[in-house]
Amino acid sequence: MITAVMPTYARVDVVFERGEGAWIFDTEGRRYLDFTAGIAVNALGHVHPYMVEKLTEQAKKLWHTSNLYRIGEAERLAQRLIDTSFAETVFFTNSGVEAWECGVKVVRKYHYETGHPEKFRIIVADGAFHGRTMTAIAAAKSEKMVKGFGPLIDGFDQVAFGNLNELRAAITPETAAINIETIQGEGGIRPASLDYLRAVREICDEFGLLLYLDEIQCGMGRTGKLWAYEWAGIEPDVMSVAKAIGNGFPLGACLATETAAVGMVAGTHGSTYGGNPLATACGNAVLDVVLGPGFLDRVVAMGGLLKGRLSDLVARHPKVLAEVRGEGLMLGLRCVVPSGGLVDRARAHGMLTVGAADNVVRLLPPLIIDEGHVDEAIRVLDAACRDLAP
Ligand SMILES: *Cc1c(COP(=O)(O)O)cnc(C)c1O
Repeated sequence: MITAVMPTYARVDVVFERGEGAWIFDTEGRRYLDFTAGIAVNALGHVHPYMVEKLTEQAKKLWHTSNLYRIGEAERLAQRLIDTSFAETVFFTNSGVEAWECGVKVVRKYHYETGHPEKFRIIVADGAFHGRTMTAIAAAKSEKMVKGFGPLIDGFDQVAFGNLNELRAAITPETAAINIETIQGEGGIRPASLDYLRAVREICDEFGLLLYLDEIQCGMGRTGKLWAYEWAGIEPDVMSVAKAIGNGFPLGACLATETAAVGMVAGTHGSTYGGNPLATACGNAVLDVVLGPGFLDRVVAMGGLLKGRLSDLVARHPKVLAEVRGEGLMLGLRCVVPSGGLVDRARAHGMLTVGAADNVVRLLPPLIIDEGHVDEAIRVLDAACRDLAP
């Protein structure tokens, strides 16, 4: 018999009851160090007191009005995202994939409005993940995501991530944009090199293409800068963000320059919930904390500490672990043994991690962790590696 919740997920048989900071507790009373953070969503940890305060404050005033009317919290959040990024305008959504798909519409409409309706194709990278709508699976084209769901929407050309020759060769008169994750998450914590990002920006300028970055997983402070592209000293034309920007309240956003969004006028796009007062109050609360004094510097410091300790761990367990990679608190352990085994053993020892492609275990802790959490993570991973050593 089919389960009440449609069985599309291979779920772990555990039910969580409550969380506190970097810790989460199951219905049996077991405590886990949460280095999944809802897949990079709970950036401020569980039940952050300031988030609770701001959410409750808004919940007592107004939840939802629709986009028929102006929304003060949304206008304020949009302006703050503009002030802290390349963007000049923002569209709010309820999820990552909607934010990403809005970017696809922005790109196509831009070329249509500027006299190039033939330019509609978007170059994407292999190993990429942009979500699960028909458009997003057509872009990523992974076997398990597309099988049985065809015909796929046309307009996406895949190239090897990091390969500039392939990228240049894939450009045709129909190419509209290049879309990459600044750091691939689901693909196995694969960072684009800073040189690659700079070269992609130059190629976009040379061929009149829009640079469209997906920072749904790597943005909002995870790498130690608010946006991961800042490390390369470049700016995109369009960017999708989500996950951590609501800290668990469903919220996404598509950011764009005024030029790129030239065609996005009244009636061209919309969402019933998108950017509602409750969601954007949460978004503003997240920004209050992440933009607070020293917050991002601490992410850099904790990321450096954790990565160093993980390198030692790799050196101690060469038959289990191959490599540590990533930036800030978006780190991956590429395994020698099947990565699922490490996820399971870590959970058995009291710590949550999440798998990714390329046999990688992702470590995506809340951005509020301290040295004590790093110590505990290393203790657990060390024990898990000892269990797995052949
Ligand atoms: C999670 C993710 C998405 C999709 O977000 P949803 O909220 O699941 O729709 C898209 N792109 C990247 C890079 C992601 O990590």
